[in-house]
Amino acid sequence: MSPAQEIGHCKICHTNNLITFISFGEMPVANAFLRKEEVENPSFKEFKYEMKVGFCENCKMVQLVNIVPYEKYIVPDEKGKRNYAFFASTSKVMEQHFSEIAKEIENRFLDKSSKILEIGSNDGIFLKAFKSNPVLGIEPSDNVAEIAKKLGIETITEFFSESLARRISLERGKFKAIFSANVILNIIDLHDLLNGINYLLEDNGAFIFEDPYIVDILKKVSYDQIYDEHIWYFSLTSLNNLLKMHGLELFDAEKLETHGGSMRKYVCKKGKYPPTERLLRYLAEERDNGINTLAPYLKFAKEVEESKEELIRLLRDIKSKGKKIVGYAAASKGTIVQNYCGIGRELIDYISDSTPFKQGLYSPGNHIPVVAPEYFHNDKKTDYALLGAWNHADEIIGKEKEFIQRGGRFIVHYPKARILESGNLPDIESHADTTQSSDLIPGVEVKKLKIFANDQGYLFETLRNDDAFFNGVFGQVLMIEIYPGVIKGYHLHKKHDEYITCVKGNVKYVIVQENPNGTKKINKFVIGEKNPALIKVPKGLWRAYMPLGNQPAMIMDVMSRPYDSKDPDTEEKGIMDFGDVWTVKNG
Ligand SMILES: [Zn+2]
Repeated sequence: MSPAQEIGHCKICHTNNLITFISFGEMPVANAFLRKEEVENPSFKEFKYEMKVGFCENCKMVQLVNIVPYEKYIVPDEKGKRNYAFFASTSKVMEQHFSEIAKEIENRFLDKSSKILEIGSNDGIFLKAFKSNPVLGIEPSDNVAEIAKKLGIETITEFFSESLARRISLERGKFKAIFSANVILNIIDLHDLLNGINYLLEDNGAFIFEDPYIVDILKKVSYDQIYDEHIWYFSLTSLNNLLKMHGLELFDAEKLETHGGSMRKYVCKKGKYPPTERLLRYLAEERDNGINTLAPYLKFAKEVEESKEELIRLLRDIKSKGKKIVGYAAASKGTIVQNYCGIGRELIDYISDSTPFKQGLYSPGNHIPVVAPEYFHNDKKTDYALLGAWNHADEIIGKEKEFIQRGGRFIVHYPKARILESGNLPDIESHADTTQSSDLIPGVEVKKLKIFANDQGYLFETLRNDDAFFNGVFGQVLMIEIYPGVIKGYHLHKKHDEYITCVKGNVKYVIVQENPNGTKKINKFVIGEKNPALIKVPKGLWRAYMPLGNQPAMIMDVMSRPYDSKDPDTEEKGIMDFGDVWTVKNG
């Protein structure tokens, strides 16, 4: 540790072991968009604070050092109501994300009368997916809660706390599942939260929550996940330390692609569910990455600095050629990047954003005007648009074909500052093994299979109905033998998922996701006797495979819908339609 490093008080374990590893300097509140009168008033003083992040060497929790009080970002209106600028249901991607997790929770934990509670229920995007179970939302922001109430979702407009939890449990009893997405990391007093959870959770209930994952933030240098509302940056290691203080523990975890890399955590009362294999694997990965030491955080701080220099260089270079740059999406991520990198109106003319709430306002800190997308669409002079929400790049680029066709280009700052060329948009081809899951196509799951051998022979389990990724629907089992030299070409099913095990020989198994903007993501695996694994291939993806070596391979395919010759639910493509993924590279 260098002597310049600042040491402070950890808000979780209350020891003086909190080491500041990065400071972003003075920052505005990321979602505090300003009115014209404020921007033009010389005596108006915008609230700013020094944004720095620390790592506790004792309990391993990564946390904001200076906390911004709630009232700075949830601004009461004239009637004293709290309003929040983010409406979850405006994103189609998020809509689908929440209906999928709702289905999983229903299949895995609920029976007919089980109750579900959501902390931070926003506009009801998650709870509306439950058709028969009783639901309750907690959402302190009046304007978004209002929308949920109109959908018939009972919503309490208060902050979640232990005392609210006691009141709810007196009136309504306990809940089988408590869910929360991108909220727990905002809650200042996590001890109070967990006391409340303990009150409300049935003994064999599950508390499921998801937030951006510190390992992904470090790996991707996505420093724009850090802002005033995000107080905590969880690893599974630090969470287990915290949960232990409350008689709770993790029993499962699942990596997600949302927000550029998130982790969904499953918490139970101590000993109620055995830890899943994937949880143990993630915990081992964290140890391997040194997540419980200061080193990866110091490395991150250095990479953040480099990323800033790259982006400024790129934008100044474009501007020096007389080109016009605008911002696309007035998200908190954009506020952080623009303020940290000092990108103001001399580089960016305006920011286009589809949230009506923000249009006509000015971005925090650098005061760039926010306009409606129509303004951007009618402005034919724009050459470049800097993406403020790179995690939705695919969705955005798919929507802005006209801009691209007339020569417009998007700039991203992540993973390095660059211009996205049209027709040359990046395909993502990821790993050919099954030992990591960081680059998996969303929905694809890999489970390593354990072989139990003794002097009688051997056996292994493949799909189990308690596998977290099992969708709960059984159609049929199909056994397929494929001869050496044959490629089973690309096919796609729209109505059913498949669970693939190679039970004899070995195969190269290829899965392709085609995106609306023409890019694709490819996952390649080698599975079989030499690498026993089960792969879940969800509906909507292309898949193809080929035996390796000189022996036939046998595939066991568990399908969630039986084959129907009148409705085969199969589309096909040529074996080379996604390039040559088949030729074995010698050498
Ligand atoms: Zn601590």
